Amino acid sequence: MIDEKKIQNLVDSTPSPDERLLDKILAKAARKKGLSLEESAALLNMHDEKQLRKLFDAAWKVKNEIYGNRLVLFAPLYLSDYCVNDCKYCGFHCSNRGLKRIRLTMEQIAEQTRLIIGMGHKRILVEAGEHPDNDIDYICDSIRTIYRTKAGNGEIRRVNVNIAATTGEDYRKLKEIGIGTYQLFQETYHRETYEKLHHGPKADYQRQITAHERAFRAGIDDYGIGVLFGLYDYRFEALSLLSHARYMDETHGVGPHTISVPRFRPAPSVDYRPEHPVSDQDFLKLIAAIRLSVPYTGMILSTREPPEIREKAFAMGISQTSAASKTSPGGYSTRQNRQFELSDHRSVDEVLQGMCRQQMLPSFCTACYRSKRTGETFMKLAKEGNIHFLCHPNAILTFKEFLLDYASPEMKELGEKTIRTELERIEDEDRRNETKKRLKRIEKGERDLFF
Ligand code: SF4
Ligand code: SF4
Repeated sequence: MIDEKKIQNLVDSTPSPDERLLDKILAKAARKKGLSLEESAALLNMHDEKQLRKLFDAAWKVKNEIYGNRLVLFAPLYLSDYCVNDCKYCGFHCSNRGLKRIRLTMEQIAEQTRLIIGMGHKRILVEAGEHPDNDIDYICDSIRTIYRTKAGNGEIRRVNVNIAATTGEDYRKLKEIGIGTYQLFQETYHRETYEKLHHGPKADYQRQITAHERAFRAGIDDYGIGVLFGLYDYRFEALSLLSHARYMDETHGVGPHTISVPRFRPAPSVDYRPEHPVSDQDFLKLIAAIRLSVPYTGMILSTREPPEIREKAFAMGISQTSAASKTSPGGYSTRQNRQFELSDHRSVDEVLQGMCRQQMLPSFCTACYRSKRTGETFMKLAKEGNIHFLCHPNAILTFKEFLLDYASPEMKELGEKTIRTELERIEDEDRRNETKKRLKRIEKGERDLFF
């Protein structure tokens, strides 16, 4: 799956492309069929400002052609910070004895869910440490509780899950409960670094890297991969992510639904400092290079990043993002136990205003998962470049719900202007007229209309 020697060799020996080669790579990327590892390595080894500008423009164009200008929003919900692992970069590591651990009860989960719904979110990413008390039955009960919870006009319509690598049997239970995407990050693909930074069951590199295959065999066809940038050379990590994606695509016929690109952030009680810190410029470069290499894959950015980096990253390939996140169990009502520090503390309303000013279209869409457009069906639409015909009107409809139910007066005004502009951008007249009709129905009180 990951040929470390080959990847390291590509990192070390691929020269930065000259103008001619760069134009050739970008012309290939514009056809939206992806790039070879060698071509991705060439992009990752570029440093020239003018060349990077070209790369960023190309990434935006490809993202826009596949997904349009929509950005899908979600919120993480930490269920429990009990954990048997001792990952050096995480505030929940088990040797952090001073941490007063919390495992949310079902009542507390319902309360946190209501607070998240009250911000306007429709998607939750469930997170929990690895611990016997956080077993699969607890996780499934929690997901059931989240789906059952209502508040005003709102509810959570899609629960994605980020929990420790587990067995096929556990994945089958997750599938039955109706999860969206199962995310698991390798953290670092560099085996030596992996073994150095992990203690506990997670230290088993093989268990971690084969987890998506077990999940897939258990019926989970929407899965996400990722690394924690900063632990090892970002070029090695990016190429490994691409190798992993290709392996899954070639072996199982479905590439990852998402690639997440978290960058290391400090956390209380964590002394570890990245041996391979990634500069802002390199971070944006790797996002753009991944976008061009696997154009059909969603890319996720969290509130670890400050607003100015987030805005730049949105404009070069990110398609999903969190907003107003809390990274501790119970964090939406108290302030404690952060897994890591955040850099974007804006409210959902403020994040959305920024998106609109950037000519992005905020989206709370969950339509594919609920119309069974997952796995191969989704990938087919995405690879043929047809998914934005659904994403765009669905973004308009769900954004309208936000404006009616949760927005500040300033947001309402800006958002309505955005919707008017975006409606005119729907090329198909029938689809445009149907979207307008549905907007009227939403104004009259209907909710959850989608294509
Ligand atoms: Fe536990 Fe996950 Fe933190 Fe590791 S990263 S200590 S597994 S919560
Ligand atoms: Fe995501 Fe599908 Fe909605 Fe597009 S239409 S935003 S791919 S759920």
